[in-house]
Amino acid sequence: MSKVYPGGVRALDDVSLEIRRGELLAVVGPSGSGKSTLLHVMGTLDRPTSGGVAVEGIDVAALPDRGLSALRARRIGFVFQHFHLAGGLSAAENVATGLLYAGVPRRRRGPLVAEALERVGLGPRAAHRPYELSGGERQRVAIARALVNEPAIVLADEPTGALDTATGRTILGLLQDLNRAGTTIAVITHDRDIAAALPRRVEMVDGRVRLDSGTPQEVCG
Ligand code: ADP
Repeated sequence: MSKVYPGGVRALDDVSLEIRRGELLAVVGPSGSGKSTLLHVMGTLDRPTSGGVAVEGIDVAALPDRGLSALRARRIGFVFQHFHLAGGLSAAENVATGLLYAGVPRRRRGPLVAEALERVGLGPRAAHRPYELSGGERQRVAIARALVNEPAIVLADEPTGALDTATGRTILGLLQDLNRAGTTIAVITHDRDIAAALPRRVEMVDGRVRLDSGTPQEVCG
């Protein structure tokens, strides 16, 4: 696929990428190389200018808007560098927003939210607002929000970029745990150590995939 922004910037230039179920991969490359665009297009937040995207075999261009929102809400979780939490909501309320568009009945939301916060080790902080939490804790809330629906896929854009190294390691560990439990995960990262720790690395340069270390054997089999 390719993505050309208004003004003519070719952010993705004939990129072809297949990610298999259960993979954990790093997307690396210099600033402006198209990593975020790739993640947005893969995550159906944005449309390619040409070419197409299939999620679990479904051609997303063929879906009506409602079908696309439902697919995104049920199957894909997003994590961003600056957390994107609502400042006026508690940790639990922020996590619950991850269920809003997934059609989960109200009475089932509380237990799912509590479980997601437990999984990221934040059960005791459920009532805290973002300003009462550290950066690492905020990112854990964002991860709980991404996983509360048990998405098949998590897409993370520089999830450790705003955190110190030690906290970044904790967040990476959480993503690795999530992957071991079966979630397919793509992580954009500038951190060479994090990229080196992941089973597959895709390197972008000027909107193209310059290097792809490939799908590890165990995922293929
Ligand atoms: P990265 O995530 O690797 O830093 P991006 O995907 O954010 O790269 O950007 C790729 C290119 O597309 C850059 O040249 C950037 O300036 C441009 N770009 C990104 N978003 C937009 C947009 N909404 N409108 C126009 N150009 C954009």
